[in-house]
Amino acid sequence: MKIVKTTTLVGTRIHQREDQWVTDRYRSVKADIAVVVIEADDGTTGIGEACAYGNPLQIADWVQWYAPSLIGREVDDLGIVPAPTGSALVHAVGSAHDFAVAGIDCALWDLRAKQAGLPVRRLLDERASAEVDVYASGGVRYDWRADPRTLIEDVVGYAADGYSAVKIRLGTYWGWDGVTPERFLRLFDEVRREAGPGLGLAVDGNSRLTRADALTVARGLEERGALWFEEPIAKDDLEGYVELNRSVGLRISGGESFTTLEQFRPWIERGAFDIVQPDAGVCGITELMKIGRVAERSGMELIPHSWHNGLMGMANAHAVAALPNASMLEECMVQGPLKWDSIVGGTPVKEGRIDLGDAPGFGVEIIDDLESRFPYVEGHYAVEVYRRDHAA
Ligand SMILES: [Mg+2]
Repeated sequence: MKIVKTTTLVGTRIHQREDQWVTDRYRSVKADIAVVVIEADDGTTGIGEACAYGNPLQIADWVQWYAPSLIGREVDDLGIVPAPTGSALVHAVGSAHDFAVAGIDCALWDLRAKQAGLPVRRLLDERASAEVDVYASGGVRYDWRADPRTLIEDVVGYAADGYSAVKIRLGTYWGWDGVTPERFLRLFDEVRREAGPGLGLAVDGNSRLTRADALTVARGLEERGALWFEEPIAKDDLEGYVELNRSVGLRISGGESFTTLEQFRPWIERGAFDIVQPDAGVCGITELMKIGRVAERSGMELIPHSWHNGLMGMANAHAVAALPNASMLEECMVQGPLKWDSIVGGTPVKEGRIDLGDAPGFGVEIIDDLESRFPYVEGHYAVEVYRRDHAA
């Protein structure tokens, strides 16, 4: 089968106030989507969601740029997927390129699986099971100045919905309100008390802490039995991660922005992480599987990053199902209706689990009217927030 057409669908939903999320000095104001669609000459179409942080219009431009090298080529030719550059961390243009490549890669997996009449996970590993555990990723709406206890309400709500694990964040910029590691750990204790001892709790530092504060938080989280501590310090501080991971028994995770195995390699070889977190929408399924297998040989787990919409969630879920060292899928709890209303088919997440079923491909389709129902709005997804005592 030959490729006859490639397109990119883009969309936006402006967040309702309750879906806006905050981290550090930023407030998200919208959710975006970018979906690569690849059509074969037998009428089959493959779909792959690219990480929209790369800017949906730039992603669409890159897919268009690659169209001449895809059209007319065999769907099964693995050599047609462009190579990611591994520059996502460095500059925005690089990230759009690699995210577009990830979308192309995912769309081709969906297309090949549909032509084979199999779910993607079975193409990746024929023994892969259909059931995948899902953790609620949220705890990202609380403002230390307004009412940090809203964090507790969020977590208790997710636990009530049946999730057995939840990931939380650090809230608004600590410098505005004199927040310390100790104060954060006291809030963590309150969350634990009200959510109950059975709930697994992970913390995402969003690369915000100094090495010293990260060590204090990590030791506190270890005492409290947290599941893992994600990206506590700057994303490029390899030495800092190696030292931190050596200093604590708590599992340290990261790598959500890396788009190639080669970016992960020094971090894996030096034991900077216990858990690697590539994302199919960021690096593609092909690269994610390679990263997962190398991580497995080093005794590391893979828990993918997955912070966009339902189609990306399905791509990551199929990879989790196929990798023996992957146990859980992330679900963004603040994405709003774009997350699940952008797709049809499949079964919803129920009590912290998803059944991928036996439908071919990723098992879902994009809604027919995506671009009219969720018209794309240009601009960055987040705005910087200023306060009276805003530090430079
Ligand atoms: Mg993260």
